[in-house]
Amino acid sequence: MRLDGNAIGGLMLELFGAEMTAARGVCGSCGAVEPLAQTDVYLNAPGTVVRCRHCQNVVLRIVRAPGRTWIDLSGMRSIEIPDAG
Ligand SMILES: [Zn+2]
Repeated sequence: MRLDGNAIGGLMLELFGAEMTAARGVCGSCGAVEPLAQTDVYLNAPGTVVRCRHCQNVVLRIVRAPGRTWIDLSGMRSIEIPDAG
């Protein structure tokens, strides 16, 4: 089932300590710049897989296990997190 980036807003807040749905990521494949909310999210992929809406490149993968979380950001060139407030 495909969701948008708002589906992982709570998870990202927990992991990064910041509201991330407005954070703008640069796709490592096609260079598109989009807020995280404007991505395609698959929650049971396994783990959580976030894909670029333009080229379907995997920009973020999150796998949680008891006691730890594994985050793969290799598909994202950069991410810009706005200050809170
Ligand atoms: Zn892309």
